Amino acid sequence: MSVTEFEIIRKYFKDGFPQRSEVILGVGDDAALCQVFPDQALAISMDTLVENVHFPHNTSPYDLGYKSLAVNLSDLAAMGATPAWMTLALTCPLADEFWLTAFRQGLLELAEQAQISLIGGDLTQGPLTVTIQVAGWVAPHLALRRNAAQPGDKIYVTGYLGDAGLGLASLQQRIILIQSANKDYLERRLTRPTPRLREGISLLGISKCAIDLSDGLAADLSHLLEASQVGATLFLNQLPLSQSLKESVDLQTAWELALSAGDDYELCFTVSPDKEEQLNMALPHSQLTCIGEIDHKLGLRLIPDNQSVLKSTGYQHFMQST
Ligand code: ADP
Ligand code: MG
Repeated sequence: MSVTEFEIIRKYFKDGFPQRSEVILGVGDDAALCQVFPDQALAISMDTLVENVHFPHNTSPYDLGYKSLAVNLSDLAAMGATPAWMTLALTCPLADEFWLTAFRQGLLELAEQAQISLIGGDLTQGPLTVTIQVAGWVAPHLALRRNAAQPGDKIYVTGYLGDAGLGLASLQQRIILIQSANKDYLERRLTRPTPRLREGISLLGISKCAIDLSDGLAADLSHLLEASQVGATLFLNQLPLSQSLKESVDLQTAWELALSAGDDYELCFTVSPDKEEQLNMALPHSQLTCIGEIDHKLGLRLIPDNQSVLKSTGYQHFMQST
């Protein structure tokens, strides 16, 4: 019988392993937290990118180097952590020095921006696969967690939603975008996501609860709601949609992409109404949009009620296997 990605994690890896007192948050959030000093925890996370699963075959090595780190830094951002170190496990079919030079440059560009050190890794020959593990610092009592949303909190997202999903459709030539400027913007949103590190760090003390959007808003927000044992109402008209997305597809498709397409790597977080003013003062230059509210009633409700925009609820590995 087949099991899904999240069932596998719950059944085989979540529980039963030796416990240690310094581990204050284990399997189930964007990163684990290990309290190594009284006022400082290490946030640790790992993500793998597999060719033809996480990135198309024609992805440039520069973009792959950049994105492999970006998706990991996004998990640190979702905890409010400041990056410190990474390790890199690279599996590639050939020792192609042109490829490796470009991959290194992409990785280095973002590593310099984030001031993260590469301290080790592993190198093997095989199908192209990149695994990065990142670690960063956060004050444990302030760290943003998935399980801290409260009824009455407002739900916010950074940036625009749905761009990367349409960028992928464009790269795979499933949609012919009319304007080349839109095509460039949307594809770049897929290949060079911006980890919202500054926003995550600024949220410490203002928000308690966040998740990064890797599998699509509906799926990732549902993880946050389940962890917090609350529900939510989302206002479709408030979803932040870029000009390029709106010019390229109809509104229904744009909402579908915003809710169900992955790879945006924006942050979704909650704020109690009395902290909203502080939020706007802390991040005056970031695009932040209130898209809904946390409720007592479990589940996710859409206004206007339009279930057809929830066609698929986020990418899950092993969903297609029998
Ligand atoms: P994210 O999308 O934020 O990277 P995932 O959906 O990949 O998170 O994973 C959900 C949670 O399950 C995370 O806390 C992650 O650390 C944990 N997890 C995933 N795979 C494994 C595994 N093989 N063993 C232990 N924990 C895992
Ligand atoms: Mg995450």
